[in-house]
Amino acid sequence: MKKWKAAAAVLCLGIILTACSSDQEKEEQQEKPVPDLEIKVEEQENTAEEKNSGEDGSIEGSDEETGERREEIVVLDPGHSSVVAEGTEPLGPGSSEQKAADTSGTSGVSTGIPEYELTLTVSQKLKSELENRGYTVVLTRDSNDIPMSCVQRATVANDADADAFVRIHANGIDDSSVQGAMTICITEQNPFYPELYPQSRALSDDIINELCKAAGCENDGVWETDSMSGNNWSEIPATIVEMGYMTNPEEDQLMASEEYQNKMVQGIANGIDIYFGY
Ligand SMILES: [Zn+2]
Repeated sequence: MKKWKAAAAVLCLGIILTACSSDQEKEEQQEKPVPDLEIKVEEQENTAEEKNSGEDGSIEGSDEETGERREEIVVLDPGHSSVVAEGTEPLGPGSSEQKAADTSGTSGVSTGIPEYELTLTVSQKLKSELENRGYTVVLTRDSNDIPMSCVQRATVANDADADAFVRIHANGIDDSSVQGAMTICITEQNPFYPELYPQSRALSDDIINELCKAAGCENDGVWETDSMSGNNWSEIPATIVEMGYMTNPEEDQLMASEEYQNKMVQGIANGIDIYFGY
């Protein structure tokens, strides 16, 4: 993958400790108008009800249609939070290298929406869709004001004895022309759980391909790195989904729209289905 795009994900996930928690970025988030989350959640619940009732006819494999239950458990991790977890934690189990526990993330250059709000909105929609398909789904956080470190997020997945850990993020970079989606997983030489590489890579491939097919966005592929502590601490196959660039005005606007969010949700869910062989 292109180096500058890797650098963008670095910004989103805060490998560089200061990158995502600069005072400037915090000020920018505070100054920009933040849409009312309660209204958004309400709209989303209404949409889920419509889908459950089968009115739009587009949901396959829902409980109401087939009664099918699936044995797999999926943990979804909406990236970041409005209250950023403080301090540092090891890069992986037993590691002496420390990373920031969490970062504030990026925000929409056009919409002003903070990344943590977008990731929760999409994760809640994705939870409904996956439950309709028969999966058991757990969210690492279900509100915006809960601070969660990356290790805590991975611990939720580990404790749930989950089969897949899907972390939802959006990207940011200092170039408004950059757009596209990617997924991120560990390398084959991961110092912590290298045995998880083949499954994490397959999960990442399936999700990015289906996401881009459904949403029509640029496919930037899979970035393999062992610098993501939440992935390193996961004892189950894990991937980070960078849905698009909030620093690109068009992609920012798209990701904020109900229609595009539904496309992304369908794509990610389709990728999870393929990963599990459905
Ligand atoms: Zn992020």
